[in-house]
Amino acid sequence: RGRAGQGSAPATPLGTAALALVRISGQDTSRLVTALAGRTPLPRTATHIDYRDVTGQLVDDVMLTYFRGPRSYTGEDAAEVTCHGNPFIAQKILEDLFARGCRPAEPGEFTQRAFLNGRMDLSQAEAVMDLIHARSDRALAAAHDQLRGALGRQMQAVVDELLAALARVEAYIDFPEEDLPAEDRDSVVQQLERVRRETDRLLATRHYGEILRDGIKTVIVGEPNVGKSSLLNRLVGRERALVSAEPGTTRDFIEERIVVGPHCLRLIDTAGLNPLPGALEKLGMERTRERLAEADLVLVVVDGAERPGPLPSAITDQLKTETAIIVLNKSDLSSFSRSASQRSFPPLPHVAVSAVTGSGIDELLNLITAKADSFQHHVGGEQIAVNARHAHALREARAALQRALARLMAEGATELVASDLRTVLAAFGEIVGKVDNERMLDHLFATFCIGK
Ligand code: GDP
Repeated sequence: RGRAGQGSAPATPLGTAALALVRISGQDTSRLVTALAGRTPLPRTATHIDYRDVTGQLVDDVMLTYFRGPRSYTGEDAAEVTCHGNPFIAQKILEDLFARGCRPAEPGEFTQRAFLNGRMDLSQAEAVMDLIHARSDRALAAAHDQLRGALGRQMQAVVDELLAALARVEAYIDFPEEDLPAEDRDSVVQQLERVRRETDRLLATRHYGEILRDGIKTVIVGEPNVGKSSLLNRLVGRERALVSAEPGTTRDFIEERIVVGPHCLRLIDTAGLNPLPGALEKLGMERTRERLAEADLVLVVVDGAERPGPLPSAITDQLKTETAIIVLNKSDLSSFSRSASQRSFPPLPHVAVSAVTGSGIDELLNLITAKADSFQHHVGGEQIAVNARHAHALREARAALQRALARLMAEGATELVASDLRTVLAAFGEIVGKVDNERMLDHLFATFCIGK
């Protein structure tokens, strides 16, 4: 906004508008863009053209960008048409491109082609998917690190170490009468132990990977009427859970995703922990325990304005200092006593809040962020958070490593040690994509979105 009275012209405010982008890839792209533009457009330069369909009818004025392979996302000749963000126009352009011989891309096909053309390894291709689905700053940062090859680099270091050990072992295979000398065996054992430690470090990032991709599973537990639903609503910022002054009306689980600082939380409100016998309560209790067992974080809500009774041991048994936070609620009431309620749960972190007024909520969010931060792992200075597929391969690698180490210790056959190590190598290879299983690849890329 211009400063009035100073004679300066008001600055033009920045404007935004949504446009539609159609992406094309394949060897015929060059012929296609030449037909559209009336000449071969300069690569990697946006060219303003009138888009006319095959019948010559004007559809829109668009920006056309041509990418000559291999300097494109897919590694093939590719192009992008940016038109006005009217779905009708985008549809007209798509239909015209189909009439000119294009076909719709399968989900993930652009990234699959990029992978097949050696533009990225499989862990980077997966990072594209993580990027598309990122729900928090941390998830975004981890996806970027992986897209830039962080996991591939770590794997390379581990694979180099493994290859060195394998070379030593294989050197003796051709001489069956000679056994691996003791000093060589010792150094192979040391190398393999280093590989195993690295494998374990990578595997340890799985939990954080799950958290980044799905959100931090945060279970809210507490007696009926302590304010669990009110807290959930306060955190979510709108009326989602049914709040009632009658005890135990929240029968089922309610789940909401929220963003807290750089993290994404999956908030799960549990049914009231009612110790009275009754089918519903028992079911609720059972399921609450199940939820607690798989929780990343637990918010135990206590009514700080009442003398809190002890929670059922089935619940307290599952609470850990690293993952549980005691939320002393109703701090707005005059009968609220932090010290009285605090005495009931001495070893766990506490925070006093009011779900009604919102006081203390920031402190609670800070505590949640600090806990979530502690789940983060760095491997070799890079942010690594492996996914389920990587973890599966790492576990396979670890099992084969274990077998190789056991054989070496027992002075077993060198050939068998080498064969175990090749199994390890194959398992590591799967992570970055030395996979010769086409169906697995098709399946993996099919989980992508269309257009990526
Ligand atoms: P839940 O059974 O644990 O889910 O508890 P609810 O969220 O349904 O809340 C039970 C009652 O406590 C409702 O009447 C709420 O308005 C009230 N309540 C919840 N949080 C607070 C609070 O921080 N301060 C006060 N004064 N009342 C609250």
